[in-house]
Amino acid sequence: MQNHLSSSLENELDLSTEWSAEHSARLYGVRDWGSDYFDVSAEGNAVVSLQFGEKTIQVPIIDIVNGMKERGLDMPAVLRIENLLDQRITQLNEAFAKAINEAGYNNHYRGVFPIKVNQQCHVIEEIADYGSRYHHGLEAGSKAELIIALTQLKDPESLIICNGYKDEEFIELGLYARQMGINCFFVLETAMELDIILERSRALGIDPLIGVRIRLASMVEGHWNEDSGDRSIFGLSTNALLGVIEKLKQADMLHCLQLLHSHLGSQIPNIRNIRSGVMEACRFYAGLIEEGAPMGYIDIGGGLAVDYEGARSNSTHSMNYGLDEYCYSIVETLQESLEPLGIAHPVIISESGRALVAYSSMLLFNILETREHKPGPLPDSAPDGSHDLIVNLFSVLDYVNVDNLQECYNDALYYRDEIRELFHHGQASLRERALAENVTLAVLEKISNLLPQVRRVSQELEALPELMSDIYYGNFSLFQSLPDIWAIDQLFPIMPIHRLNEAPVRDGVLADMTCDCDGKIDNFISPSGVTKTLPLHPLKEGEEYYISVFLVGAYQETLGDLHNLFGDTNVVSVHVNEDGSFDFRREFHGDSIADVLSYVEYDPKLIQEQFRRIAEQAVRDGKISVPMRQQMLRAFRESMNGYTFFER
Ligand SMILES: *Cc1c(COP(=O)(O)O)cnc(C)c1O
Repeated sequence: MQNHLSSSLENELDLSTEWSAEHSARLYGVRDWGSDYFDVSAEGNAVVSLQFGEKTIQVPIIDIVNGMKERGLDMPAVLRIENLLDQRITQLNEAFAKAINEAGYNNHYRGVFPIKVNQQCHVIEEIADYGSRYHHGLEAGSKAELIIALTQLKDPESLIICNGYKDEEFIELGLYARQMGINCFFVLETAMELDIILERSRALGIDPLIGVRIRLASMVEGHWNEDSGDRSIFGLSTNALLGVIEKLKQADMLHCLQLLHSHLGSQIPNIRNIRSGVMEACRFYAGLIEEGAPMGYIDIGGGLAVDYEGARSNSTHSMNYGLDEYCYSIVETLQESLEPLGIAHPVIISESGRALVAYSSMLLFNILETREHKPGPLPDSAPDGSHDLIVNLFSVLDYVNVDNLQECYNDALYYRDEIRELFHHGQASLRERALAENVTLAVLEKISNLLPQVRRVSQELEALPELMSDIYYGNFSLFQSLPDIWAIDQLFPIMPIHRLNEAPVRDGVLADMTCDCDGKIDNFISPSGVTKTLPLHPLKEGEEYYISVFLVGAYQETLGDLHNLFGDTNVVSVHVNEDGSFDFRREFHGDSIADVLSYVEYDPKLIQEQFRRIAEQAVRDGKISVPMRQQMLRAFRESMNGYTFFER
């Protein structure tokens, strides 16, 4: 439908002037959520914005997309900007260094990246590489992740923090790492693990580095609040912690207990929760020192949020603090809590995942078609001899105005439903029903267009713009590429990457390629809050229309699934140079159809043979010729090797 730009933005945008890229920048809120990494250029393109010293380099994303096309990397695709990974690591480490320096804190910061947030090999390689100058380490929550950590980290000063359930194999691997001089900590999630650790370390004669994960009573807001509090499934209760201390004392191993770990949950929107969590952790830290453990490290887990909404608020997908404030809060709280007790400042560890990688990736896709929900051509008035109900509908269409929206809405639906009822009983024809529905749609469209001029509207009228909105069919799978939208109603910033100097005069929701009613996006961020539709441009004949979902670098790539057998997308990793040029550092072709079939245990060779037999039988039955058979087999083979998404 025609959209209501004026309603949400009339205060912020001067709509009397012609639409410009500046209007789009504000409409899509790019400077609110983009954290200076994204912007809109005067030419109307979404750009990646990078700082090289004093110089700002802007690269239009559409240029990268064109480069991908030339290289045979079709949509949909994940685009990673390596520089953004680098910048995030730098900013996090520098922010902690600055806070530590200014507060006169007597120890340093060591970050570890939780591998589960993005396990892709090139992401981990880049983090290990860019992070080495800050001794940024890795957090492993499983054996497989420990193997990644052991082999990817090159810097001996970096830490490896092992969380999660650990069996004998896991523990032996970690002990061998320790023996080789790697700073590998076992964090106890349960008291049971300690027995295996003590037994294995005695058998191998290697002293472990031990941490304890405690269960804080401090609760946090946001989606992940269950990681904290008494019912959290992770961490030791205070009582279990005492059991661990006792056991370590008995084994004469208390000197191995050096780290306290607490993780309050991911995406913590409110800084107050972080402060109170750290304060409580400090009490535990002091308690452990009192018990005679040497300690030295405090690990505050993840939780540093990303402002997906750009709202700077404490709502679930936002955050009411910045990176600097986060670091200051932690450093100050540690200092204020421990100094009065005469406890030496511990090394500060944090396990930021989301905040480190979310910015670096975006999901790009093209729009295949749109479906407009609008009335077809209508006669000026009810044709002669029309049913009374249809005549009435036409008069509603005539007199609808800002003062009678609700009344007209009620009337139109009433008359339409009456006609449907008559149709049901064979008393109205197909044509009469079609006309009634068409006029009703025209009434609804008129009402919807008048809504912005009305101060208070009922709930049903408020829902009208969404009901009347267009559907834009995108070449992607929500389940494969944006699982958190489906699973936890995550909000991501979404906007077209070009044509931003044209007014986006349509309102739409996005539907994906799966034939699943959940495969759609109908919650969007906007400067006036969350909206049900996104302002978009009408498609142009013979021209692609590209949309980007931003900030998808965290958690989206491996949580996705093979719903409808749409596989992994193409992935491109780009490095931007100081002169504004960019290099395609890595490219990965997404799954072929043969790949995804084999994931669900089909044998692609066997399938080919089965198709050959069907075709051969058709030749024998005289249904197709032999050359036709050859052509079909070739097409089949090409399909098997092709992309699972829509190919132009
Ligand atoms: C998931 C997880 C993290 C990462 O949290 P973010 O909010 O993404 O930074 C850190 N530590 C532990 C123990 C986790 O389970």
